[in-house]
Amino acid sequence: MSLSNGLTYLAIPGPSVMPDRVLRAMHRPAPNIYYGALPEMVEGLIPRLKSVARTEGHCAIYICNGHGSWEAAVSNCFSPGDLVLVPATGRFAHGWAETARAIGVETEILDFGKRATIDLEALKERLLRDDGRIKAVMAVQTDTSTSVRNDIAALRGAMDAVGHPALLMVDCMASLGCDRFEMDAWGVDVMVVGSQKGLMTPPGMAFVFFSDKADRARETARCVTHYWDWRPRVDPPMFYRYFNGTAPTHHLYGLDEALSMIEEEGLEAVWTRHEILAEAIWAAFEQWGSEGPLELNIRDRALRAHSVTAVRAGSEKGTALRNWCETKAGLTLGIGLGMAEDNAPEWDHFFRLGHMGHVNAQMILGALATIEAGLKAVGLPHGPDGVGKAAEVIAARA
Ligand SMILES: *Cc1c(COP(=O)(O)O)cnc(C)c1O
Repeated sequence: MSLSNGLTYLAIPGPSVMPDRVLRAMHRPAPNIYYGALPEMVEGLIPRLKSVARTEGHCAIYICNGHGSWEAAVSNCFSPGDLVLVPATGRFAHGWAETARAIGVETEILDFGKRATIDLEALKERLLRDDGRIKAVMAVQTDTSTSVRNDIAALRGAMDAVGHPALLMVDCMASLGCDRFEMDAWGVDVMVVGSQKGLMTPPGMAFVFFSDKADRARETARCVTHYWDWRPRVDPPMFYRYFNGTAPTHHLYGLDEALSMIEEEGLEAVWTRHEILAEAIWAAFEQWGSEGPLELNIRDRALRAHSVTAVRAGSEKGTALRNWCETKAGLTLGIGLGMAEDNAPEWDHFFRLGHMGHVNAQMILGALATIEAGLKAVGLPHGPDGVGKAAEVIAARA
């Protein structure tokens, strides 16, 4: 018997839950793309995007997903043969490095595995040995596969401590609009983010924020191509140059509404909401894990993302649990990404819960209660009443 009809919760994580307000804002006739309301609205979006990124720098908009913004960032900063240092704490840093290599940039990966943050001593040691070749450090704030959250301010501190002039480039795809991020205060030169996670807009747009220092790198970068060039996009002589072609009209209306929702709540309150909901989730999983094999992938609370939680089920019943939640109860959990080989039996041991963007206490408590029912249904041993522990967190902190 399926009980899944009703409002579903896509917790895969990303694309995230679409707010009705965003969907309604997109449901309109096609606007004129030459003059009038649309160009005026887009001009107003830029400072609002910058304030979510906490920067006075520049913001280029692209019609693409997150992978496209990876390519936009690297093509504007580098020439073939340049070297970038990539501290990796999960799947996504490797993806960004792959994009860089494909356009002729050399990458050196410092791999810190799947359960740890960046070892800043190791990073400093490598930067100190540099003979002037490393042009940038490319890192991910929240790795969506492992759910580790790296301390970007500390990363900048480490680069400064050894006096290295490299650009600091950060992927905030799974953290912007969920976890604190301060582009200027933390000395970030380039930041990339897609529209479909904390920004609560359908996939199909991405943003590259960059500093004046990064723009000076653009001056000599030979990887940059006409389409990916960020310069006309931040200072467009004609409206179409924002996008190098037709504007993503309806996405822009959706984004306008999503930004209004963030502004109405207040960015700091958005971060705190994600923090409290994340703590409720951890409390539930820690309780379930007190008896039986379940375990959160990241042990140290200070290193856990507030937008996504990667779980080690410690049993092949992880996949069965995910299937049960989706087909019986309307909760779609994410697969474990990059945690085991596709065909290995361990592939079934992992799943993730996305809790980014348009999520509130009743959704999270509902999701956790669903997971608890699923644990019982598939027979995965667990400590009692994780939901009760989550409820205590919500009761104490709301
Ligand atoms: C989702 C995600 C990406 C990729 O975004 P796409 O839109 O799927 O290309 C990159 N990095 C991180 C950290 C992500 O979470």
